[in-house]
Amino acid sequence: MFDDTIAAIATAPGEAGISIIRMSGSKSLEIVDKIFVPKKNKSIKNYPQRRLVYGHIIDKNKDKIIDEVLAVYMKAPFTYTREDVVEINCHGGIVPVRNILDLILKNGARMAEPGEFTKRAFLNGRIDLAQAEAVMDIISAKTDKGFDVALNQLEGSLSKKVSEIRDIIVELLAHLQVSIDYTEEDIQEITYPELLSKSEIVRDKIKKLLDTSETGKIIREGLNTVIVGKPNVGKSSLLNALLRESRAIVTDIPGTTRDVIEEYVSIRGIPLKIVDTAGIRETEDVVEKMGVERSKEFFNKADLVIFMLDASKELTKEDREIMEHVKNKKAIILINKTDLPQKINENEIKEILHDKKIIKVSIAKEVGLNELEEEIVKMVYGGQVKSREMSLVTNIRHKNALEKALKSIEESIEAIKQELFFDLIAVDLNDCYEYLGEITGDTVAENIIDNIFKNFCLGK
Ligand code: GDP
Ligand code: ZN
Repeated sequence: MFDDTIAAIATAPGEAGISIIRMSGSKSLEIVDKIFVPKKNKSIKNYPQRRLVYGHIIDKNKDKIIDEVLAVYMKAPFTYTREDVVEINCHGGIVPVRNILDLILKNGARMAEPGEFTKRAFLNGRIDLAQAEAVMDIISAKTDKGFDVALNQLEGSLSKKVSEIRDIIVELLAHLQVSIDYTEEDIQEITYPELLSKSEIVRDKIKKLLDTSETGKIIREGLNTVIVGKPNVGKSSLLNALLRESRAIVTDIPGTTRDVIEEYVSIRGIPLKIVDTAGIRETEDVVEKMGVERSKEFFNKADLVIFMLDASKELTKEDREIMEHVKNKKAIILINKTDLPQKINENEIKEILHDKKIIKVSIAKEVGLNELEEEIVKMVYGGQVKSREMSLVTNIRHKNALEKALKSIEESIEAIKQELFFDLIAVDLNDCYEYLGEITGDTVAENIIDNIFKNFCLGK
């Protein structure tokens, strides 16, 4: 499909055991033959394809050895790009890698753009767009679960679900078309009830996929969690306890400010980005106020709030104030210090926060943490943890496409209920079909494709 041959360094820059330079395109074999001299048999062409061949990269103009390498030629179409591919394993280090790439470029290859190998795999039809995006997710995965989900997507699970929905719509459109084209009596027209039930199936399937998108985001980016409560209730103790439990600290360096501490912990495979705040409270002190402002910011964008209270104290004005903020958030209420004599009025808490889970704990005595973790898992998955089977929508582009598809199918359902003309129903159904096609790349604009691959790393 493409006449030019592209090349790039496929491994990360810097010093390493080996580095790999990769070429794809019809001239790959010809180019490597010009710069690579096997120890035996003179030319790589004398070897079977897919065999690693030992030899030297030589700049023939200068009669100079560039590096000692292993080279392999893989014949189209059973390659990453479906084109002829050559890979050269050289010594890991900036000098040999650069020199070999230079030599390849001088001999007729073009420098690949970021993601161009994967883009070719897509444009040559080996993988669809959702699978291509999964390649990038695999490379950048920060947690085991994120990796699993991306691998699942690469294997085509999301694409398959989307295709199934599109198949139903195609069938509906075909029925509609027949009914529109032939008005004779002998053609059996599709009925409104039939149209309705099939469209509702489509709608429900799209909804189901969309339902997994929140979970998807969490798995990719971590659940934004804040711990709030007045001073001394045990917020920092809780954070420390969770950090101790969590062997795998997920990513990045914790950011610290005067009043806000941010840490990554992993709770039964779910990454949590936890912020321990100084509490949301009014303050006179300007320096402290900055911390409080930041707390509010974290609080507002939190996916989950853990609100802590002290069982050994009566409720204060400050507790009640925080409770008002917590009311409208996804929150778990922890009543801490249950090892001490209880003074807190639980009924008042239950009254104000009637729809929230209340868990009694003692961080100091390590009581109740399990229950907290279970509740977090339950909230994230809605009670069903089955990550390998789940086809999760983790990608914002996919989510947007699904949302547009849902809107179209809902409009067509409305039109069916009003028994409008078939042509009008077909328009909405067709929109729905096209939006779904954006996910797999069947109906996606070229600039969107370019944008996706631009974000890839070089050499992939
Ligand atoms: P923060 O200000 O909300 O971060 O509270 P800290 O985590 O700093 O804890 C304040 C104090 O309460 C410390 O002295 C802790 O040791 C103590 N504390 C924390 N959890 C418990 C508990 O479950 N029981 C008892 N008795 N003391 C606790
Ligand atoms: Zn603290």
